[in-house]
Parts: sequence; structure tokens; C-alpha cells
Amino acid sequence: MASDLPVVIVGAGPQGLAAAAHLSERGQDALVLEQGATAAAAVSEWGHVRLFSEWPELIDVAARRLLEGTGWVAPVGGCPTGREWVDGYLAPLAAALGDRVRTGVTVTGVTRLGRDRVVGSGRREAPFVVHAIDAEGHESVVRARAVLDASGTWAAPGPAGADGLPALGERAAADRVSYRIPADVTRLAGRHVVVVGAGNSAAHAVLRLTELARSEPGTRVTWVLRRGSMGSVFGGGAGDGLPQRAALGVRARRAMEKGLVEVLTGFRVSELRLHPDGLTVVAEDGRELDGVAHLFALTGFRPDTAFLGELRVALDPALEAVAGIAAEIDPNVHSCGSVAATGARELAQPEPGFFIVGAKSYGRAPTFLALTGYEQVRSVAAHLAGDHEAAARNELSLPSTGVCGGSDEFDGVGGSCCAAPVLQIGTRPLALAGGTDTRGER
Ligand SMILES: Cc1cc2nc3c(=O)[nH]c(=O)nc-3n(C[C@H](O)[C@H](O)[C@H](O)COP(=O)(O)OP(=O)(O)OC[C@H]3O[C@@H](n4cnc5c(N)ncnc54)[C@H](O)[C@@H]3O)c2cc1C
Repeated sequence: MASDLPVVIVGAGPQGLAAAAHLSERGQDALVLEQGATAAAAVSEWGHVRLFSEWPELIDVAARRLLEGTGWVAPVGGCPTGREWVDGYLAPLAAALGDRVRTGVTVTGVTRLGRDRVVGSGRREAPFVVHAIDAEGHESVVRARAVLDASGTWAAPGPAGADGLPALGERAAADRVSYRIPADVTRLAGRHVVVVGAGNSAAHAVLRLTELARSEPGTRVTWVLRRGSMGSVFGGGAGDGLPQRAALGVRARRAMEKGLVEVLTGFRVSELRLHPDGLTVVAEDGRELDGVAHLFALTGFRPDTAFLGELRVALDPALEAVAGIAAEIDPNVHSCGSVAATGARELAQPEPGFFIVGAKSYGRAPTFLALTGYEQVRSVAAHLAGDHEAAARNELSLPSTGVCGGSDEFDGVGGSCCAAPVLQIGTRPLALAGGTDTRGER
């Protein structure tokens, strides 16, 4: 019987692990499949980056209860780095979940037993089948009564090209282009470095490079923005509920004012010309940046939907976010993003029993916070356990960003998108700010 089968969770990141904790607490059998050699493989890859959330905002409530039963003591004090998040919470959580977490297993496809996407007959009753492959190339199939896709977006960064495709020459220039926040930039001392992107990751990279420019004269940093104005790039300042996120913007602004970084707006990268000693970065309007030793393209991330091809999935055509939440997080509409819709009902797919949760549920929208995901998995686990009252509740309360960037900063036109200030009744926020970016991470 399908009801005897486990709920399979794709990805042992913060959200997949939290989902397993909620399901286990409710007596539901859960199995987490993680492609990395260890749990939280994606967070480990950005372990050198300091989060702007503090510890209490990074720990899920069911996970906390599970961990406290093992004698674990919640870390305290400020914002951890990704590495500290893993060591202090995510790795102990995976250990507490024991053999419910299987690492080194990549999910390659999810479908219904004996049915491709087209077959409707008996579909609802048919168990899911999850195809996977391990590091040695052994394939396996796991049956499931429900599937939660918590595989994140970390594996698919956006390109430097302004139109969403790699710029002409971007592939050939692979050795001189990176798509992640750098851990160490010392090899770029005295060189010209370009950062493309307008989000927190780009600001992080710019700050690392301007520190280098301060100690190593001759280092030149150029920050390239696709949008026509600086707009909300520096964040919400004093209005930001996360002081570390605000500080990032303040420091970036200061670096610009001190001349440590040159900012070019409306610079839409169209071509990377590779020379023996570096790159020329060319914009659509003909502007050129010469002698570039390295380019960091930090333009946001995209969900990998390839392994969902045989499921009936509704994604927003622009954001690739779950269709039921897209309108609330669409940076084309507003930057302060109401996130009232975060539960099983809004995350439901045309494929009953299948949910996309965590960072992947936001698709290309850059405003996802761990707290939002923890609320998602709490609600979805309650739904799968048949507790519809708990599933319908909204227990989310998010810090404000202080940013209201307006509906269109792309060509230098911005305006307030918030008609009303933040309202909160009980634990249900009616209009909350969820991120600092408009128009994605550019
Ligand atoms: C640099 C950075 C800083 C951030 N800072 C903050 C912050 O301060 N505060 C905050 O609230 N949020 C922050 N976030 C956003 C968000 O909370 C994190 O990205 C969080 O890790 C998302 O959790 P997740 O579980 O949805 O995805 P991930 O952490 O990406 O986990 C997904 C997991 O799925 C695995 N996986 C992927 N594909 C497959 C597959 N096919 N089969 C099996 N396993 C697979 C991956 O290996 C990974 O372990 C930050 C994000 C980044 C990138």
C-alpha cells in the first residue's frame, strides 16, 4: 500500500533536514536522499560566507526539539558562517536523523509507478518512484507515498550575459570567470577584477575585493550592474530587521564613496573577449572594460527542473517558482514581498503528494530566507500527517528589509511598491519584507 511507503525528501540541506525532523516528530516515515558526500553539501560549499541571520533564525523548531533530546546545546552569539551553521546545527541534525539521511545519492528523476506524465488513469493512487544514482554509478529506485523536492538552487548559477544566456565567449573564458563568492582573492592583487550582479552575493564579493584593493595598490575593482540605477542595491539601512544585511549595504556604499570600487550601471554584458593576458568585457551599448584578470558573475541561481520532467508541476513562467507563491515574491512587482502564502495549500502541485520546498520553491527569486522554508516544511509535514488545522496555520514572522524598491528599477525608474506599512495580527504577517533585491540579483 502506498500509505506504508516513506515520504522521500530530495536534498539534505537546511530545509530537507527540517522537513525530516517535522515528519519524524509526527510519526511519519521519512527518507532524505542527498547527492553530496555529507549532509548540507551546498551550505558547506559557501562555508566561508557569514550569514546575515542570527542563530535563532537558522534553527527549525522541530529540529531543535529533536536535537535537544540528544544533549545538543543550541549555539548562541551573532551570525554564523556557513561552516559554523553546518558544524553547530546541520551536521548534528543529520546525525540525529540517522539512517533517515542517505548521502552520496543523486536523484535523477521522479515519476509515478508505471505512468509517465501523460497517463492520468490511477495516477493519484499510484506511488511515486524516485530514481537515483550513487557515486559508484549504481542506480536505484525508491517508492514513496509523497515527495518533497528540497534540492535548492545552488548548483545552477546564472551567467554573466545580461539576457540570461552566457555572453558570447563566456564559455571559452571559463578559466577567468567564477560564479560563487570567492573565499580567497589574494591571487588577484594588483589586477583588474569585475563583479557582475546586484544582490547580496555581489556586494559580498565587492567588499572582499575592496579590502584587497586597500592593502594592494593597483588592484582595480569594477562593479557592473544591469539595472539603470543603484536603487536598492545598498539595502534597507536602518529599516532592515537584519543588522548584518544592512551593514553589508552600508559597507558597500562606503567603498564606492571612497573610490575603492567603480560602479557602472546599465552595463548589460553581451560579450567576453579572451586575450592571452585577460578579458575584455563588452556591454550591449558598446562600452568596453579592458585588461580584466577575472570576472565574478553573481547574478543569482536557478532551479534544476530536469528531474521533475515526468511529474505534473506548476511553475511560474517568469520566476520558475512554485506557481502558488510566485505572485507574492515576484521582484517584477515588488521588492518587499508579502510572504503570507507559505504553506501546504499554496505549495500544492497538480501532482498530489508532491511539493517543492525551500530555496527551490522561490525559483529565481533571490529573497528566500531559512525561516520561510522552515514554515513551509512545518505546514507540509502537518498536511501529510493529516493535521489540516496545523497545515493551514501560518506561524511565520520575518524581519523587515527596510527596502521598498518599486516595480521597475531596470531602466532607472523606481518607486514605492508598498501601499501600506507592515501589519501584523497575532502571528500572521499581512505584508512583510522578504529580501533586498529587485529584478533578481542583477
Ligand atoms: C551565500 C548565501 C548566504 C545566505 N545567507 C542567508 C542568511 O543569512 N539567512 C537566511 O535565512 N538565508 C540565507 N541564505 C538563503 C537560504 O537560507 C540558504 O540558501 C539555504 O541553504 C537554503 O536551504 P535549502 O535546503 O532549500 O537548499 P540547499 O542548502 O541548497 O540544500 C539543497 C541540498 O540538496 C542537495 N541536492 C541538490 N540536487 C540534488 C539531487 N538531484 N539529488 C539529491 N540531492 C540533491 C544539495 O547537495 C544540497 O545539499 C543564503 C544563501 C546563500 C547561497
